[in-house]
Amino acid sequence: MIDAGKSAGNERLSTAPAPALFACEDIHIRLGGRLILEGISLGIRPGEILGVVGPNGAGKTTLFEILSGRYVPDRGRVMLGGQDITKLRLYARARLGLARTYQSPVVPDALTVAEVFRAARQAYPPFLTRFHAEWAAEKVGLRVPMSALAGSLETLNRRKLLLACLLMRRPRVMLLDEPAAGLINSEIDELDSIIRHFASEMGTAVMLVEHRLELLSAIAGRCVVLDLGKLIAEGDPEKVFEDPRVRAAYFEVEAA
Ligand code: ADP
Ligand code: MG
Repeated sequence: MIDAGKSAGNERLSTAPAPALFACEDIHIRLGGRLILEGISLGIRPGEILGVVGPNGAGKTTLFEILSGRYVPDRGRVMLGGQDITKLRLYARARLGLARTYQSPVVPDALTVAEVFRAARQAYPPFLTRFHAEWAAEKVGLRVPMSALAGSLETLNRRKLLLACLLMRRPRVMLLDEPAAGLINSEIDELDSIIRHFASEMGTAVMLVEHRLELLSAIAGRCVVLDLGKLIAEGDPEKVFEDPRVRAAYFEVEAA
């Protein structure tokens, strides 16, 4: 194996592809007696934004449950920075730099924004300061009073608050499950630019679930398409829809 870091003059070879920071291999899971995911393998490099698309029910969220540590797969493994984390719990993965958001932006309704930030800052060591929270709030463009009740926030601000709570720990990997759900187009553009900023500035590897393929070309350099628990296509988001299997998967859903 070529070790680019040890090449002449210790210069990294620009042509050597960066290895996957986060990956899964041959993931299978059966739920309620049905095979929900079958042989899913994918990987993501630092700073990359990978779209995970597929019609409703394809298995996208189930894949995230496995990648984030809520479910253990029946077969296959999950790797982070070369370490097998398949059996690590959600909180243990968070400490290794794996962050995740959910389809519904659920916030603790009765807490203020400041209290939500405090809970996130003190969730596990190292405990962060108020300044970390203020930095993250500014980075995501969260412009609400710290005294506002989290439950009073609109969808976009809820998503920004949850994102800021994760970003202040500078995660290595972020798994975002349908971050655009419930947002209008201008809000989606704003969120996309925040996500792009963190991928490029912090080198965070971002995996983004979306079922509307057309939304991904603006943000994801590459996407994988799931259908009925299988990975059916991978590539440039603008080109992948030309794949007949992808078209069939989407049209079948529309016709149903
Ligand atoms: P997506 O996020 O792509 O819309 P999901 O991963 O939520 O899809 O669901 C994929 C399939 O798995 C669906 O048919 C769903 O009904 C089924 N499923 C998800 N979770 C469970 C579960 N806990 N028990 C049984 N079936 C499940
Ligand atoms: Mg889902």
